[in-house]
Amino acid sequence: MTMKSFNPPVRTLMGPGPSDVHPRILEALSRPTIGHLDPVFVGMMDEIKALLQYAFKTENALTMPVSAPGSAGMETCFANLVEPGDKVIVCQNGVFGGRMKENVERCGGTPVMVQDEWGKAVDPHKVEDALKANPDACILAFVQAETSTGAQSDVKTLVDLAHRHDCLTIVDAVTSLGGTELRVDDWHVDAIYSGTQKCLSCAPGISPVSFNERALQKLKGRSTKVQSWFMDLNLVTAYWGGGQQRTYHHTAPVNALYGLHEALLMLREEGLENAWERHRKNHLALRAGLETLGMGFIVAEADRLPQLNAVSIPEGLDDAVVRSRLLNEYNLEIGAGLGTLAGKVWRIGLMGHASRAENILLCVGALEAVLSGLGARVDTGNALAEVQRSLHG
Ligand SMILES: *Cc1c(COP(=O)(O)O)cnc(C)c1O
Repeated sequence: MTMKSFNPPVRTLMGPGPSDVHPRILEALSRPTIGHLDPVFVGMMDEIKALLQYAFKTENALTMPVSAPGSAGMETCFANLVEPGDKVIVCQNGVFGGRMKENVERCGGTPVMVQDEWGKAVDPHKVEDALKANPDACILAFVQAETSTGAQSDVKTLVDLAHRHDCLTIVDAVTSLGGTELRVDDWHVDAIYSGTQKCLSCAPGISPVSFNERALQKLKGRSTKVQSWFMDLNLVTAYWGGGQQRTYHHTAPVNALYGLHEALLMLREEGLENAWERHRKNHLALRAGLETLGMGFIVAEADRLPQLNAVSIPEGLDDAVVRSRLLNEYNLEIGAGLGTLAGKVWRIGLMGHASRAENILLCVGALEAVLSGLGARVDTGNALAEVQRSLHG
């Protein structure tokens, strides 16, 4: 078999992640690899920490990128904070709450599930009931931006409730960081993790995490070792927290971190609040186009994420046929439904660099062409004009 260099096609990535990576970030990834203990590299690491503090709106000293994807950030939070025997209240309103439950169990903890329908935000009343019914619980865990459904939950309210009942909080911000309002310090979030391939528009494979002083106290007060050697923050911080005294823990993904540095720099240049506003405006423009075509959102307006738009698939259409035509004819990737929503919804991402006018026009135009070509009943001829009107007022 002959093989040659792999040259991927140029796609437009409007699914649930990875999102379009900006050329500036791709270029940064290809810069020369240097040693991960090189003083020049260590200087860049300090900048990454400061830039992550900016993105999370926190002064937490323990703010760093875990060298693995978002799922590893999740695992880092649970492995460090959940001890055998701990009771953890886990909110589930989509796929990712289910993974939190798995993590609690694998750390030897006991999960208490608070279930909400897929497509709904986490209900604070149910959380309060669970906190009252389980006074021995010590952690509340939930997802801010549920990428499987496009629903956003109210971090501030949920964290306040947890603290009133003496619980720490673990928050999944994989899809929210850089895309929607998130204030780690103002909202007193204790432990939080994110990912690089959603609204930061960086290559996949890194997971920023941040722990506050309360979370660190819980970690320091453990009576058992963190069961994962790789994720034990007591050990990792000798590398990430050590300044010029850093010692070897694992070989940092040097080039991936160049990419993250560039992505965070771009976020700071744009301004975090401006990035949130861009995601919001572009969501409204996409929505104008999709609704004109006749598609409806599955999440109530007040709880909708701007960066992840879940719409019902019009009746009579084959999910996979439409998505493969978009991919093959337009180089456009949109996401399928997960779990109970498989075959029922499309998930259209407007994350980071993917959240821009030309992508919205491409997506709405391509959907219009493919759907009408397949004989679906769509209102043709008006959707792009509605997108333009929304974008330009
Ligand atoms: C994507 C995602 C994850 C997992 O991130 P990976 O980088 O795929 O491991 C976790 N939580 C949420 C809400 C996500 O959207």
